[in-house]
Amino acid sequence: MSNRLKYLLDEERIPRHWYNIQADLPKALPPVLHPGTMQPVGPDDLAPLFPMALIEQEVSTEREIEIPEPVRDIYRLWRPAPLFRARRLEKALGTPAKIFYKYEGVSPAGSHKPNTAVAQAFYNREAGIKRLSTETGAGQWGSSLAFAGALFDIDVTVFQVRVSYDQKPYRRALMESYGARCIASPSNETASGRAVLERRADHPGSLGIAISEAVEIAAQREDTKYALGSVLNHVLLHQTVVGLEAIEQMRMADAWPDVIVGCTGGGSNFAGIAFPFIGESLRGGAKPRVVAVEPAACPSLTRGRYAYDFGDTAHLTPLTKMHTLGSTFTPPGFHAGGLRYHGMAPLVSHVKELGLIEAVAYHQTECFAAGVQFARTEGILPAPEANHAVKGAIEEALRCKREGRAETILFNLCGHGHFDMQAYSDYAAGKLSDQQYDESELAMALSGLPSVPEPA
Ligand SMILES: *Cc1c(COP(=O)(O)O)cnc(C)c1O
Repeated sequence: MSNRLKYLLDEERIPRHWYNIQADLPKALPPVLHPGTMQPVGPDDLAPLFPMALIEQEVSTEREIEIPEPVRDIYRLWRPAPLFRARRLEKALGTPAKIFYKYEGVSPAGSHKPNTAVAQAFYNREAGIKRLSTETGAGQWGSSLAFAGALFDIDVTVFQVRVSYDQKPYRRALMESYGARCIASPSNETASGRAVLERRADHPGSLGIAISEAVEIAAQREDTKYALGSVLNHVLLHQTVVGLEAIEQMRMADAWPDVIVGCTGGGSNFAGIAFPFIGESLRGGAKPRVVAVEPAACPSLTRGRYAYDFGDTAHLTPLTKMHTLGSTFTPPGFHAGGLRYHGMAPLVSHVKELGLIEAVAYHQTECFAAGVQFARTEGILPAPEANHAVKGAIEEALRCKREGRAETILFNLCGHGHFDMQAYSDYAAGKLSDQQYDESELAMALSGLPSVPEPA
């Protein structure tokens, strides 16, 4: 039997709704606060940055939110994404576990990110927006939004974190091919960028800084809005197409995961695969273990504090309660650029606090080793970010082997690594090291967290 599940390219199988976990949470998400008043932000506070349809999704507690037909129509280009069983990896590991993976690398940009980029471009277009500004780490989000912008005739400006801009020139070429403008961040184009460059001219950049720059541009212009590729509730919502499809596909395979694994940068691909399953369990279904895998060099879930913090470095965003390393923390320039963010999605942080998920951290070289083992057995070369999920899944499979348990593992292979070959060359040449973050910088960033009064 083929190890690819028979899953017809039947458009009926593309979900008609996104799943909103806020409908099923036993405890509501803490409110987003205005940093000036410390009061919950209202829709008007967010209106300069986002179209109203997305703001409504941000606070919605409706379980199912309809996917607009024009968005579903574009999803048809690559969705439903395949679910595979990794039989050759299982064999190589000698594990009794069954390993399934959902492959999001089949999208035009090569990762899960277009799932939300297309939706965000659609709602902005509906609101008459002509230009979107955004940040990107490794470049996956920038290329996804550039792709979506091309489809909806929206100009896209991307601030790319300097270290990735230099490491991954082909990502920039892809963004430009889709018609976007790509600027290395910190840049001289914004006040927040200039402020950082004044302190350190060769600053490697960070997602927090790039967000400040993109937000600054969007706030200045009526026809420009901001788009974020992770962290926010509406982004996680759009990514639930991944898990909703996986639920159907697991049912077709007559299997159900005992363990779900995803990598976490801002939390969106992890939430995308996990939340629909967690929702099933909150409504009385089976309760899988759910494991978030993060980089040991930027460990917000395992080493951060659960506290109110800014989403960006220049403190232009509202305050959200999340696991954070502090908004001034600059993670080392390791290769999984998409995982270099100081915070974690408030929803992922919240479900962690509720005990619905676990988190582990691994170093980059052991993750690359896992990715190479995956490529040599299953054929797909994962994105460096996705290597963390592969590593997490392999560790679970080896645990099953030690314990003699035939569990079912499902992980999200959130993107391919075809634009990340420099990282693989460096790995093969033994040039990758396991960078440690600076403990004193972390302590300083944490001590700078804003003080927020506990609600009465
Ligand atoms: C952006 C990205 C990530 C990190 O973002 P999340 O919101 O945590 O998913 C991980 N993997 C890939 C392939 C990405 O493009």
